[in-house]
Amino acid sequence: MNKKIIIAIDGYSSSGKSTIAKATAKHLGYKYIDSGSMYRTVTLFALRNNLIDKKNSIVQEEKLKNILDTVHINFKINDLKKRQEIYLNNENVEDEIREMEVSNYVSFISKIKFVREKMVRIQQELGKEKGIVMDGRDIGTVVFPDAELKLFMNAKAEVRAERRYKELKEKGVIVSYEEILENVKSRDHIDETRDESPLRKASDAIELDNSSMSEDEQLQWILGLLEKKIN
Ligand code: C5P
Repeated sequence: MNKKIIIAIDGYSSSGKSTIAKATAKHLGYKYIDSGSMYRTVTLFALRNNLIDKKNSIVQEEKLKNILDTVHINFKINDLKKRQEIYLNNENVEDEIREMEVSNYVSFISKIKFVREKMVRIQQELGKEKGIVMDGRDIGTVVFPDAELKLFMNAKAEVRAERRYKELKEKGVIVSYEEILENVKSRDHIDETRDESPLRKASDAIELDNSSMSEDEQLQWILGLLEKKIN
């Protein structure tokens, strides 16, 4: 029998992490966790509770800290849509957390230390039994530093924005390409320069620039790497 491992996929915004992570998890029969959706969910919670001054992007950290214990995050499979969806206190928020409003503020929430500590604890618990693919920004560096396979994905900002634009357009979200490009660039900048777990390639991660690769080419590439790891 193949041994179960942890696969950590980090990288820049909209670099195709989740597409490759989902395909890999499906292929191996592993659990897939989108850690970005967890930071997005906390952001939605903060927005709903008016804890973010939108004009200045300032978060009322003390207040958030006091009520963070009331945030319960979990994942459930939607059999109809054949996808995993995230729940905030038993409410399905999978679609709402993808909206631009959340994208615009998530990096201000994800740089807060106590928020990261709570998310990392949940993520490590989810990976306790291995057999998991998790994508994010600090999975190979902080959450699972001992992961058996670590990937770091990148692509040109314009390519990433274009992919995201198409994805949102297909979902009927009205947003301009320029707005997305700006959001992708600014999130990358905040994620890379924050003090807490900044976005970094782990020293033992394998880097992939997928600017001109199809999804299938990427899957074949990762399956090639896996051959050596799980057998
Ligand atoms: O992956 P996604 O683009 O949905 O992530 C949204 C945001 O969540 C990122 O821009 C980043 O600020 C934050 N994030 C993080 N650490 C992770 C995953 C996401 O800080 N492991």
